[in-house]
Amino acid sequence: MNTWFSELQTPEVSLGLKVKSVLWQEKTPYQELAVLETLSYGRMLVLDGAVQTTIRDEFVYHEMITHVPLTLHPHPRKVAVIGGGDGGAIREILKHPSVEEAHLIEIDERVVEASKRFLPEISEALEDGRAHVHLTDGIRWVKEARDFDLIIIDSTDPVGPAEGLFMPEFYRSIYEALSEDGMMVAQSESPFLEPDIIQRVMAGVSQSFPVARLYLASVPTYPSGLWSFTLGSKETLAEPRAVSFPTRYWTPEIQHSCFVLPRFVEELIR
Ligand code: SAM
Repeated sequence: MNTWFSELQTPEVSLGLKVKSVLWQEKTPYQELAVLETLSYGRMLVLDGAVQTTIRDEFVYHEMITHVPLTLHPHPRKVAVIGGGDGGAIREILKHPSVEEAHLIEIDERVVEASKRFLPEISEALEDGRAHVHLTDGIRWVKEARDFDLIIIDSTDPVGPAEGLFMPEFYRSIYEALSEDGMMVAQSESPFLEPDIIQRVMAGVSQSFPVARLYLASVPTYPSGLWSFTLGSKETLAEPRAVSFPTRYWTPEIQHSCFVLPRFVEELIR
């Protein structure tokens, strides 16, 4: 096979990756799912035509959505990931020795199954005894959840079942589900292409949390390559703790520098 996958990131911009083979394709009750073998980025999970993760660059996103909040929390013990069916965030969370339970709340069982079958490097930690998989809607689940130290929203873009994961009421439910010094982080899209989403997420998180901060990382296969995360905390942020395991993107220096924003991003959330 000698063909190209292209993701229409906007009606006028697309990302193209040369594809070696299509490993899996199906229509789930929630979305179109595909796993492609690409020449440059290795295996890639695609949902509704949007790249979710690739073997080559997944470490950036998964390290940054987890280690940034986990090193800021004084004693993360009980953590949840809403979305994130590929299991990459759970893999990174379980590297922290203080974590006793990591819960994955994924609406689409087929994403978990396809990731276990085709992306074992990313999904392997879902088999760990500390990982608990709940195949349900995160919006419903969070209303009953309590005493979490950290809740991570590792969602698809704000359409379909993920739309409610970007709403202020959802951040209020997250606040209620957290312990006294709890934190949340949400993936909040690209400052170049989706500035309004960043503003919406920051405004929503700020309504519920006294501390709300934006940070950035470079993810080559995500729209524009520059990605944002919004962190909400009940307490003032302390100095980050060191980690005792190897990382590929996160470093203690990145932990500080990721919160330093380019002027146009600073102005977006001012
Ligand atoms: N890292 C990826 C990104 O930023 O493109 C997202 C990873 S993960 C595959 C996103 C997951 O969120 C999808 O598997 C989707 O099924 C799940 N999801 C969407 N809406 C959800 C909801 N309301 N509750 C739980 N999971 C949801």
